[in-house]
Amino acid sequence: MKINTKCVQAGYTPKNGEPRVLPIIQSTTYKYESSEQMGRLFDLEESGYFYTRLQNPTNDAVAAKIAALEGGVGAMLTSSGQAANFFAIFNICSAGDHLVSSAAIYGGTFNLIGVTLKKLGIDCTFVSPDATYEELCAAVKDNTKCFFAETISNPSLDVLDIEKFAKAAHDNGVPLIVDNTFPTPINCRPFEFGADIVTHSTTKYMDGHATSVGGVIVDGGKFDWTQNDKFPGLTTPDDSYHGITYTDSFGSAAYITKATTQLMRDLGSIAAPQNAFLLNLGLETLFLRVERHCSNAQKVAEFLEKNDMVSWVNYPGLPGNKYYDLAKKYMPNGTCGVISFGVKGGREAATKFMDSLKLAAIVTHVADARTCVLHPASTTHRQLNDEQLEAAGVNSDLIRLSVGIEDVEDIIEDIQQALEKAKA
Ligand SMILES: *Cc1c(COP(=O)(O)O)cnc(C)c1O
Repeated sequence: MKINTKCVQAGYTPKNGEPRVLPIIQSTTYKYESSEQMGRLFDLEESGYFYTRLQNPTNDAVAAKIAALEGGVGAMLTSSGQAANFFAIFNICSAGDHLVSSAAIYGGTFNLIGVTLKKLGIDCTFVSPDATYEELCAAVKDNTKCFFAETISNPSLDVLDIEKFAKAAHDNGVPLIVDNTFPTPINCRPFEFGADIVTHSTTKYMDGHATSVGGVIVDGGKFDWTQNDKFPGLTTPDDSYHGITYTDSFGSAAYITKATTQLMRDLGSIAAPQNAFLLNLGLETLFLRVERHCSNAQKVAEFLEKNDMVSWVNYPGLPGNKYYDLAKKYMPNGTCGVISFGVKGGREAATKFMDSLKLAAIVTHVADARTCVLHPASTTHRQLNDEQLEAAGVNSDLIRLSVGIEDVEDIIEDIQQALEKAKA
């Protein structure tokens, strides 16, 4: 199956007489005839459902679809993108360990890694996404367990040189974890370029309709956890599972099996089956929507670039963009629907522009079917003055525009009239 067909068909194959549409299995528990059989399930000697915190048929079908889209060996849904990134790292890092992360990542993930993981004893060295191979290797320590980065960073829209990061990670015996939320597997499949683990906030394009917060971890299945002694959690017996060794018992799916049976068991954060169902509806049209998001964003970016009220435009699909060549290499069919740009006249003009929009809504969200905008300086970062904003990499005139799938002429008309009103 080609990827577009997988969006529609993968993950759930009903047998004769079964529901055509993926059912919502709204049940916490599963019934068995004997306690002996249930015992075998608990010991992981037999596979089967016993409690939805560990596995649920609706969730599993949707996870299987996403694994197929990314080209991985297995996947696990989580209740949010935050939980996905936390579990992805925590599955192989514990107190006393270290990771190397790109500094150009989502604010929530930056906090997770820089503050909360630090409290758990996991240290991080943040590097520029543009760091050279040598600089990346220089950030590695004896206790480094993984590299982390975003394929297209939110909100700065830096495009990751996946092969460079993967090589630096692999030459140091550790895997590369990539958050692929913005391009989605329709535009970029990081495993094809050497990434080992892929995560998503499915809240964004995958769901696509802003209905359900969710996340997913996908295991590429190619990283050799036994090549060194850095990953004892995978290569030595797990006492909490009667001495099972994940790499021995589950081979290429060792990482994702451990994430499910150990982390999800102990920490929770399972996706609700109802949300998995809604996510699946979104996935069925993902390839259609992503294509439209990208073609609309390309036209809007080109329009903005020519407008005399606009001081700068950042979109990796524009030929003058710093990341244009990397984007062409890793995502030749398009990047994403998010653009950032500056309005001449600073904070005041930007606010006036925002308040004059009619079709584009002001929301704290990106990447859903409806066009939306955010002005960080007057909302998420409003406590900062202009100098502090600049230090945070957020100019007072910066507007983050998430281009939806509406008719692009309507989107451009709305932006045009709002830019006119923003003129002093
Ligand atoms: C939104 C986002 C997250 C966090 O996901 P939630 O679903 O909001 O928890 C992580 N990474 C990226 C790139 C995001 O855009």
